[in-house]
Amino acid sequence: ETFDEMGLHENLLRGIYAYGFEKPSAIQQRGIVPFAKGLDVIQQAQSGTGKTATFCSGILQQLDYNLFDCQALVLAPTRELAQQIEKVMRALGDYLQVKVHACVGGTSVREDIRILQSGVHVVVGTPGRVYDMLRRGSLRSDYIKMFVLDEADEMLSRGFKDQIYDIFQMLPQNLQVGVFSATMPPEALEITRKFMNKPVRILV
Ligand code: AMP
Repeated sequence: ETFDEMGLHENLLRGIYAYGFEKPSAIQQRGIVPFAKGLDVIQQAQSGTGKTATFCSGILQQLDYNLFDCQALVLAPTRELAQQIEKVMRALGDYLQVKVHACVGGTSVREDIRILQSGVHVVVGTPGRVYDMLRRGSLRSDYIKMFVLDEADEMLSRGFKDQIYDIFQMLPQNLQVGVFSATMPPEALEITRKFMNKPVRILV
Protein backbone atom coordinates (compact mmCIF):
# COMPACT_ATOMS: atom_id res chain seq x y z
CA GLU A 1 0.00 0.00 0.00
CA THR A 2 1.15 3.53 -0.78
CA PHE A 3 0.33 7.01 0.54
CA ASP A 4 -1.40 7.68 -2.80
CA GLU A 5 -4.09 5.10 -2.08
CA MET A 6 -5.20 6.64 1.21
CA GLY A 7 -7.50 9.25 -0.26
CA LEU A 8 -5.45 12.12 1.15
CA HIS A 9 -5.54 15.68 -0.18
CA GLU A 10 -3.12 16.41 -2.98
CA ASN A 11 -1.31 19.07 -0.97
CA LEU A 12 -0.96 16.77 2.01
CA LEU A 13 0.60 14.11 -0.21
CA ARG A 14 2.99 16.70 -1.57
CA GLY A 15 4.04 17.54 1.98
CA ILE A 16 4.53 13.88 2.88
CA TYR A 17 6.73 13.23 -0.16
CA ALA A 18 8.63 16.50 0.21
CA TYR A 19 9.44 15.49 3.78
CA GLY A 20 11.17 12.45 2.32
CA PHE A 21 8.71 9.65 3.04
CA GLU A 22 8.22 7.24 0.16
CA LYS A 23 6.23 4.40 1.67
CA PRO A 24 4.01 4.31 4.76
CA SER A 25 5.33 2.40 7.77
CA ALA A 26 3.22 -0.46 9.18
CA ILE A 27 1.53 1.78 11.72
CA GLN A 28 0.84 4.42 9.07
CA GLN A 29 -0.68 1.82 6.76
CA ARG A 30 -3.14 0.84 9.43
CA GLY A 31 -3.67 4.09 11.29
CA ILE A 32 -3.81 7.02 8.88
CA VAL A 33 -7.05 6.13 7.10
CA PRO A 34 -9.21 5.46 10.20
CA PHE A 35 -7.90 8.58 11.93
CA ALA A 36 -8.39 10.68 8.78
CA LYS A 37 -12.00 9.43 8.66
CA GLY A 38 -12.65 10.82 12.10
CA LEU A 39 -12.62 7.57 14.08
CA ASP A 40 -11.22 7.25 17.59
CA VAL A 41 -7.95 5.36 17.39
CA ILE A 42 -5.76 3.66 20.01
CA GLN A 43 -2.32 2.84 18.71
CA GLN A 44 -0.05 0.84 20.90
CA ALA A 45 3.34 1.43 19.34
CA GLN A 46 6.87 2.30 20.37
CA SER A 47 8.42 5.54 19.20
CA GLY A 48 10.39 5.02 16.03
CA THR A 49 7.47 3.36 14.28
CA GLY A 50 6.17 6.48 12.56
CA LYS A 51 3.31 7.33 14.91
CA THR A 52 3.89 11.08 14.67
CA ALA A 53 3.18 11.20 10.95
CA THR A 54 0.14 8.97 11.53
CA PHE A 55 -1.74 11.44 13.68
CA CYS A 56 -0.30 14.51 11.94
CA SER A 57 -1.61 13.27 8.58
CA GLY A 58 -4.98 12.37 10.09
CA ILE A 59 -5.28 15.85 11.57
CA LEU A 60 -4.04 17.70 8.48
CA GLN A 61 -6.55 15.84 6.33
CA GLN A 62 -9.48 17.04 8.42
CA LEU A 63 -8.70 20.69 9.15
CA ASP A 64 -10.77 23.52 7.72
CA TYR A 65 -7.99 25.82 6.51
CA ASN A 66 -10.35 28.77 6.12
CA LEU A 67 -11.12 28.70 9.82
CA PHE A 68 -8.37 30.29 11.88
CA ASP A 69 -9.34 28.67 15.15
CA CYS A 70 -7.76 25.75 16.95
CA GLN A 71 -9.35 22.57 15.63
CA ALA A 72 -6.82 20.00 16.85
CA LEU A 73 -5.00 19.71 20.16
CA VAL A 74 -2.06 17.34 20.69
CA LEU A 75 -0.61 16.70 24.16
CA ALA A 76 2.88 15.31 24.71
CA PRO A 77 4.85 14.58 27.90
CA THR A 78 7.87 16.84 27.25
CA ARG A 79 8.66 20.19 25.68
CA GLU A 80 11.13 18.58 23.31
CA LEU A 81 8.59 16.08 22.04
CA ALA A 82 5.91 18.76 21.64
CA GLN A 83 8.29 20.92 19.63
CA GLN A 84 9.32 17.93 17.54
CA ILE A 85 5.67 17.19 16.73
CA GLU A 86 5.12 20.86 15.88
CA LYS A 87 7.94 20.65 13.32
CA VAL A 88 6.60 17.48 11.71
CA MET A 89 3.07 18.91 11.54
CA ARG A 90 4.35 22.10 9.96
CA ALA A 91 6.51 20.24 7.43
CA LEU A 92 3.80 17.78 6.38
CA GLY A 93 1.29 20.63 6.18
CA ASP A 94 3.63 22.99 4.35
CA TYR A 95 1.58 23.02 1.12
CA LEU A 96 -1.64 23.47 3.10
CA GLN A 97 -0.34 26.56 4.87
CA VAL A 98 -1.17 25.03 8.21
CA LYS A 99 -0.68 27.22 11.25
CA VAL A 100 0.73 25.26 14.20
CA HIS A 101 1.89 26.45 17.59
CA ALA A 102 3.68 24.64 20.41
CA CYS A 103 2.44 25.66 23.88
CA VAL A 104 5.10 24.49 26.31
CA GLY A 105 6.46 25.51 29.67
CA GLY A 106 9.63 27.57 29.90
CA THR A 107 8.59 29.92 27.10
CA SER A 108 6.97 33.34 27.22
CA VAL A 109 3.29 33.21 28.21
CA ARG A 110 2.72 36.55 26.52
CA GLU A 111 4.17 35.30 23.28
CA ASP A 112 1.93 32.22 23.47
CA ILE A 113 -1.11 34.43 23.93
CA ARG A 114 -0.09 36.65 21.02
CA ILE A 115 0.40 33.73 18.64
CA LEU A 116 -2.84 32.04 19.71
CA GLN A 117 -4.70 35.30 19.11
CA SER A 118 -3.22 35.55 15.63
CA GLY A 119 -5.11 32.35 14.73
CA VAL A 120 -3.75 28.80 14.59
CA HIS A 121 -5.25 25.55 13.29
CA VAL A 122 -3.35 23.17 15.57
CA VAL A 123 -1.88 23.44 19.07
CA VAL A 124 0.72 20.95 20.28
CA GLY A 125 1.76 21.22 23.87
CA THR A 126 2.54 19.93 27.30
CA PRO A 127 -0.43 19.56 29.67
CA GLY A 128 0.53 22.34 32.10
CA ARG A 129 0.87 25.17 29.59
CA VAL A 130 -2.08 24.01 27.51
CA TYR A 131 -4.30 23.92 30.59
CA ASP A 132 -3.09 27.39 31.53
CA MET A 133 -3.94 28.75 28.07
CA LEU A 134 -7.40 27.14 28.14
CA ARG A 135 -8.12 28.47 31.62
CA ARG A 136 -7.13 32.00 30.64
CA GLY A 137 -9.36 31.77 27.58
CA SER A 138 -6.36 32.45 25.35
CA LEU A 139 -6.82 29.04 23.76
CA ARG A 140 -10.46 28.81 22.72
CA SER A 141 -11.80 25.28 22.69
CA ASP A 142 -15.06 25.86 20.77
CA TYR A 143 -13.74 24.54 17.47
CA ILE A 144 -11.50 21.75 18.74
CA LYS A 145 -12.71 18.52 17.17
CA MET A 146 -9.56 16.36 17.38
CA PHE A 147 -7.58 15.53 20.52
CA VAL A 148 -4.44 13.41 20.56
CA LEU A 149 -2.53 12.08 23.56
CA ASP A 150 0.96 11.16 22.44
CA GLU A 151 3.01 8.91 24.71
CA ALA A 152 0.01 8.65 27.02
CA ASP A 153 1.75 6.18 29.35
CA GLU A 154 4.66 8.59 29.75
CA MET A 155 2.33 11.53 30.50
CA LEU A 156 0.56 9.49 33.17
CA SER A 157 3.79 8.35 34.79
CA ARG A 158 4.89 12.00 34.94
CA GLY A 159 1.81 12.82 36.99
CA PHE A 160 -0.23 14.63 34.34
CA LYS A 161 -3.38 12.59 34.93
CA ASP A 162 -5.41 15.31 36.67
CA GLN A 163 -4.40 17.92 34.13
CA ILE A 164 -5.35 15.65 31.25
CA TYR A 165 -8.77 15.08 32.83
CA ASP A 166 -9.19 18.81 33.44
CA ILE A 167 -8.36 19.51 29.80
CA PHE A 168 -10.87 16.88 28.63
CA GLN A 169 -13.58 18.63 30.66
CA MET A 170 -12.91 21.88 28.81
CA LEU A 171 -13.19 20.38 25.31
CA PRO A 172 -16.38 20.01 23.26
CA GLN A 173 -18.43 16.82 23.67
CA ASN A 174 -18.21 15.69 20.09
CA LEU A 175 -14.51 15.03 20.02
CA GLN A 176 -12.35 12.64 18.03
CA VAL A 177 -9.72 11.14 20.35
CA GLY A 178 -6.43 9.45 19.45
CA VAL A 179 -4.34 7.72 22.10
CA PHE A 180 -0.77 6.72 21.26
CA SER A 181 1.13 4.76 23.86
CA ALA A 182 3.93 2.21 24.00
CA THR A 183 2.24 0.45 26.92
CA MET A 184 -1.31 0.37 28.24
CA PRO A 185 -1.20 0.64 32.04
CA PRO A 186 -4.57 0.70 33.89
CA GLU A 187 -4.67 4.52 33.97
CA ALA A 188 -4.27 4.66 30.20
CA LEU A 189 -7.03 2.09 29.75
CA GLU A 190 -9.24 4.17 32.02
CA ILE A 191 -8.75 7.18 29.74
CA THR A 192 -9.69 5.14 26.69
CA ARG A 193 -12.84 3.86 28.45
CA LYS A 194 -13.91 7.27 29.73
CA PHE A 195 -13.22 9.45 26.74
CA MET A 196 -13.26 7.32 23.61
CA ASN A 197 -16.14 6.12 21.51
CA LYS A 198 -15.78 2.66 19.91
CA PRO A 199 -12.06 3.09 19.32
CA VAL A 200 -10.19 1.25 16.60
CA ARG A 201 -7.29 -0.61 18.26
CA ILE A 202 -4.03 -0.95 16.39
CA LEU A 203 -1.15 -2.92 17.83
CA VAL A 204 2.19 -2.79 16.05
P1 AMP B 1 8.18 8.46 15.10
O1 AMP B 1 7.82 7.06 15.51
O2 AMP B 1 6.97 9.21 14.65
O3 AMP B 1 8.94 9.18 16.16
O4 AMP B 1 9.12 8.38 13.80
C1 AMP B 1 10.39 7.77 13.85
C2 AMP B 1 11.29 8.15 12.68
O5 AMP B 1 10.88 7.49 11.49
C3 AMP B 1 11.33 9.63 12.36
O6 AMP B 1 12.66 10.00 12.14
C4 AMP B 1 10.52 9.74 11.09
O7 AMP B 1 10.94 10.83 10.30
C5 AMP B 1 10.76 8.43 10.42
N1 AMP B 1 9.63 8.00 9.57
C6 AMP B 1 8.34 7.95 9.94
N2 AMP B 1 7.56 7.51 8.95
C7 AMP B 1 8.38 7.26 7.90
C8 AMP B 1 8.17 6.79 6.54
N3 AMP B 1 6.95 6.47 6.10
N4 AMP B 1 9.25 6.68 5.73
C9 AMP B 1 10.48 6.99 6.21
N5 AMP B 1 10.74 7.45 7.45
C10 AMP B 1 9.72 7.57 8.29
